[in-house]
Amino acid sequence: MNTSKDMTAGNPIIIKIDPSDNVAIVANDGGLQPGTKVPGGVVLKDFVPQGHKFTLEGIEAGGDVVRYGEVIGQAVVDLPEGSWLNDRHIRIPEAPSLEDLPLATRKIDDSPALEGYTFEGYRNLDGSVGTKNVLGIMTSVQCVTGVADHVVRKVKNELLHKYPNVDDVIAITHSYGCGVAIQAPNAAIPIRTLMNLARNPNLGGEVLVVGLGCEKLQPDRLVPKGREVAANVVCLQDIHEDGFEGMIARIMEMVEERLVRLDKRLRETCPVSDLVIGVQCGGSDAFSGITANPAVGFATDRIVKAGGAVLFSEVTEVRDAVHLLTPRVVDEEVGKALIREMSWYDNYLEEGNSDRTANPTPGNKIGGLSNIVEKALGSIVKSGTCPISDVLGHGERVKKKGLVFAATPASDFVCGTQQLASGIVLQVFTTGRGTPYGLAMAPVVKVSSRTALSKRWFDLIDLDAGRIAAGEADIETVGEELFQMILEVASGRTQTAADKLGLANDLVVFNPAPIT
Ligand code: CA
Repeated sequence: MNTSKDMTAGNPIIIKIDPSDNVAIVANDGGLQPGTKVPGGVVLKDFVPQGHKFTLEGIEAGGDVVRYGEVIGQAVVDLPEGSWLNDRHIRIPEAPSLEDLPLATRKIDDSPALEGYTFEGYRNLDGSVGTKNVLGIMTSVQCVTGVADHVVRKVKNELLHKYPNVDDVIAITHSYGCGVAIQAPNAAIPIRTLMNLARNPNLGGEVLVVGLGCEKLQPDRLVPKGREVAANVVCLQDIHEDGFEGMIARIMEMVEERLVRLDKRLRETCPVSDLVIGVQCGGSDAFSGITANPAVGFATDRIVKAGGAVLFSEVTEVRDAVHLLTPRVVDEEVGKALIREMSWYDNYLEEGNSDRTANPTPGNKIGGLSNIVEKALGSIVKSGTCPISDVLGHGERVKKKGLVFAATPASDFVCGTQQLASGIVLQVFTTGRGTPYGLAMAPVVKVSSRTALSKRWFDLIDLDAGRIAAGEADIETVGEELFQMILEVASGRTQTAADKLGLANDLVVFNPAPIT
């Protein structure tokens, strides 16, 4: 990789990942003009925008385009040496077959465990550990969302300052609960997602469920196991006090009982093996797979080697690289679970008359990502190098430590919602194009793939991995910075950009079952 810090066009910087690649990407701000001689001697025939690919040698129509050492597609026209190559020039190859994939074939890394790292977390009765102390007011049905939001505003204005150890009060609202085919087989997904959201470790087992009374999803189902239903659910149709004010007064009583209990929670020193984090990417560009995602992969390895759990997700972004993941599963059973999740999603897309070309987005393409194969190869780098210890279905709660594949759609806000249900207490989010994404329930550390983005969005991005492309820092350095930042944020010593600004996306529950 070029080691210059000068990103202007006078100093052409190109990035080639694998020795067998026949394309490289342009790293310079503003791209490079035709006629530019790049390192290695190739002269560009076309203008090549930043993050976009050009051919290192002539590729004839029908010839393989190779990046990351993998075929990302076939050229549809003759592409002489130095040509700009974008999504219009490549035909997407067939997705790897789910038959006969190699399972658990890779030698297990037996390097020593990482010891001595801790964070300050909130330990719960069930053994889970939170990074925040949050009161959650959860709805069982969309009908009562206005009331939940009203209560949250009132608590923030009138009560929260009296309980200094409580970080926040949030409304956990969603569009599920009624008008749905609740007996349909796929209804299991939204229902368990909601049940598990209520159990997120950052909520301390103190969620107050606000229901209406006549909805299909009965609110008692959302009360964490072992908690008394009557003390944790309030149904608006059952409140005896008169009018809206009476309703709010009754809810506020139940809220204050919880604030008193939550305020007694204190942080304690916990080993990193108590940490459960999620990783995902959004608004990706061609740099994501060579700067931000590899740095995340390094931090992922650190946490997994320290005994913690890291969840990676986004089925449509791993599907085309699944043949690189199945050798890494710990045993055949986990391998079969991984294939089961890929297959379920293949069918889901097929039923919707859709296919994998629905991803990437137009923004991804402008950023230089030609197709889902290229995106997948850059995306799975977030999973680091450790073995895959377990696979979770959509919205399932984490059961094992280590590197876990948690099936979710790639959609940022759906993935975020499902990872929270799986029990993450912090998320790392990489972005190339930029997004103000955040989660109310858990801190989100945002890592930019390009320095230009982190300069422009200096108060929205937490860590700049673009320094890797500029040769200012290597993957290990940025990865270690990220690992340390995760521990600081998990301990409440550092606030993320999204938390400082109070930015949070809505929860969006994945419901593949019919609406009635
Ligand atoms: Ca995503």
